[in-house]
Amino acid sequence: MGRSLLIARIGELVTNAPAADGAGPGPGPFAVINDAALVIDGDRVAWTGPSSRAPAADELVDAAGRAVLPGFVDSHAHLVFAGERSAEFAARMAGLPYAAGGIRSTVAATRAATDAELRGGLRRLAREMLGQGTTTFECKSGYGLTVVDESRSVVLAAEITDEVTYLGAHVVPAEFDGDAGAYVDLVCGPMLEACAPHARWVDVFCERGAFSADEARAVLTAGRAHGLIPRIHAGQLGPGPGVRLAVELGAASADHCTFLTDADVDALAAVAPSPSSAGTVATLLPGAEFGTRQPYPDARRLLDAGVTVALASDCNPGSSYTSSMPFCIALAVRDMHMTTSEAVWAATAGGARALRRADIGYLAAGAKADLIMLDAPSHAYLAYRPGVPLIHAVYRSGVAQL
Ligand SMILES: [Zn+2]
Repeated sequence: MGRSLLIARIGELVTNAPAADGAGPGPGPFAVINDAALVIDGDRVAWTGPSSRAPAADELVDAAGRAVLPGFVDSHAHLVFAGERSAEFAARMAGLPYAAGGIRSTVAATRAATDAELRGGLRRLAREMLGQGTTTFECKSGYGLTVVDESRSVVLAAEITDEVTYLGAHVVPAEFDGDAGAYVDLVCGPMLEACAPHARWVDVFCERGAFSADEARAVLTAGRAHGLIPRIHAGQLGPGPGVRLAVELGAASADHCTFLTDADVDALAAVAPSPSSAGTVATLLPGAEFGTRQPYPDARRLLDAGVTVALASDCNPGSSYTSSMPFCIALAVRDMHMTTSEAVWAATAGGARALRRADIGYLAAGAKADLIMLDAPSHAYLAYRPGVPLIHAVYRSGVAQL
């Protein structure tokens, strides 16, 4: 037993607690306790319940009516890069369309950067995320696109998170123009060999202008053979085969899902995570639609069909240079017609599902003590007061971070 900490007088405690009947590991549906308390013991939540029944603890924090939520789980972020693309953003806002090829300018800057420069950028973004309530984040490679630059990207990412994704198949680099097949061979061969020991996930940008269904299948299958779990960029710029491929290969998540056929929605609903199956989550990234001025994904269509939905930032220097989960929640509520509780669930428990984590995304005895306290009485304020810094405190593994 470590030292225990009682957080008392919580106005609204968002628990997402698993059902008592043993519905399986990890978070349950959205749930709250009003006038609540929570006890942390070491790095875990030891107890939650009404404030009036709170047990004694070594230390006391008075929440004074504030809301407490699970820390945000950002399951989709591209943080290993150098340079910035504000001019491209400004041009896009002035009317130019977004194309996947813009990634190449970040690739050139990333290859030219030193390890120290990349590490500095990563740490800055990780601090930025933490200050906005993100306690777990995924981090992809994908701006190196050589064996050396991809492997240093996953090694650097592994310094700051356990959720490292090998994204050698982000875009075909310029030196392989006209010979995508040779690049896919590299991604599935020596580059994978170098990166797999440092990663948990394998990802591919399955999109016109990036990788075809057959190329994406080759990359994900090769990754799986090296012990990596697939996830996929699917349906961002137009309808395509990505969602079908995600379902076919048992990917943890199909990300973007902006353009979906009815068959895609049905397929995702059929593989929604359940107690007996890890399943496939649809991860929506509204920062990308905001940053490219594209139509938002139809979250209601997915939710009403029974698909498990996560929200993530897609933080990257091209299409979505935000690290803010509260911003994504506000967009999801205002422009994607998610309820405030659906959006908060998707940004916490949904992210945990997308990362196949049973220890985060909820607050109940046994969960990791990753939580945030808002300067507000309810989770709804995250959308009700958009753009306002509402994070009063962040605890990760039971330790106050801010
Ligand atoms: Zn992405």
